[in-house]
Amino acid sequence: MELHGIFPAEDMSWQREANCLGVHPDLFFPERGASTREAKEVCKGCVVRDECLEFALNNGEKFGIWGGMSERERRRIRRARSLERRAVVGA
Ligand code: SF4
Repeated sequence: MELHGIFPAEDMSWQREANCLGVHPDLFFPERGASTREAKEVCKGCVVRDECLEFALNNGEKFGIWGGMSERERRRIRRARSLERRAVVGA
């Protein structure tokens, strides 16, 4: 099974529940500056949204909508988590 046209090695069984199965992958990789609204609408009702987002964060996915979030939104999360980790190590 594939999601976003990618065949990863790790356990991706959560994909079976993905709301985007059968939706054209292009929707999740809009051109720069194009709307992400449609893709995010699909993600909104997805029961594996958290798994999808964590997969993207863990694998450093730089492009596309994953877990209902854009690259920029994921970058913000990664930065916040990195700061949290540093704060814990420095505590
Ligand atoms: S959160 Fe969005 S991209 Fe991820 S599996 Fe669900 S519908 Fe697909």
